[in-house]
Amino acid sequence: MRTAFITGITGQTGSYLAEHLLEDGWNVHGLVREADPRPEASAAPAPTLHEGDLMDSARLGELVESLEPEVVFNLGGLTSVAASWSAPIETEMVTARPVAVLLDACRRLSARNGRRVSFVQASSAEIFGQAEEVPQRESTPIRPLNPYGAAKAYGHHLVGVYRAAGLNASSCILFNHESPRRPETFVTRKITAGVARIHLGLESKLRLGNLDAVRDWGWAPDYARALALAAERPDDYVIATGVAHSVAEFVALAFAAVGITDWRSHVEQDPAFMRPSDAAIQLGDASRARDVLGWSPSMDLESVVSAMVAHDVALLEASDA
Ligand code: GDP
Repeated sequence: MRTAFITGITGQTGSYLAEHLLEDGWNVHGLVREADPRPEASAAPAPTLHEGDLMDSARLGELVESLEPEVVFNLGGLTSVAASWSAPIETEMVTARPVAVLLDACRRLSARNGRRVSFVQASSAEIFGQAEEVPQRESTPIRPLNPYGAAKAYGHHLVGVYRAAGLNASSCILFNHESPRRPETFVTRKITAGVARIHLGLESKLRLGNLDAVRDWGWAPDYARALALAAERPDDYVIATGVAHSVAEFVALAFAAVGITDWRSHVEQDPAFMRPSDAAIQLGDASRARDVLGWSPSMDLESVVSAMVAHDVALLEASDA
């Protein structure tokens, strides 16, 4: 049985990745912080969880050494661009440094046990910042705009360095990927949860920042599948839908999903949610992932929004019952 070790296993994409690998018959191990909520026990096979912190480099290295995984997936780290401005040092410690620790651990493990050890980094479209070209490809210049993007850029470069030195290492440049498991710190879930509350009469307004930002939003389980595929073919891969929409369009789709067409009367712009710098447009070209990995997204934005709104309405109705 093949063994995978996942950091960030309790997060949105990490949890989908764990489920995907378990279904595929993998033995899955994950890193969790003491305070992380544990997934509910289910009849299905479950991952083995190990307590530890991404900032504890020695612990991370020891886990790779003792678990001897075939693949290490690094999804851990702070995921919020906005929060990285208030915690730039922690961002470096949990989003950048563990990449070095894990790559080094993989290289040592492979040298010791003589087997191929693969590494897959969950990188981010934030490495491109105010991108020089649209759509963004693997060759687009890396020029981040915020501490989160800079930490991810370091990780992305280091994966390339270790790949050139012979490690089976891939970096997946993930564009925004959403699902009902997204926390409300992200605009998509904030919108769908807010729309559900407005629909049920619990709230009247949704307060948002920049409505003009354009993003390429996909369905998170599709992105988890891409990470699993990338373990087989070491390279850099843009993972995106290739279709971009503005925040305003996302809002309109979410309100439309509950039958509200005059969405503007429910939305207020609040400067508190504007960012010091915000990429105007993120749009990815996932041709390489399609051609080399056979990957393609399964859902368009309308389906993603409907699934998220339906989930949030059902959640509120269940809590009211
Ligand atoms: P990110 O792309 O990883 O930062 O994902 P987010 O979902 O946090 O933000 C996506 C885009 O939505 C960015 O351009 C934000 O500036 C914009 N946005 C507009 N209003 C809001 C808001 O109220 N909250 C968040 N998180 N983002 C907002």
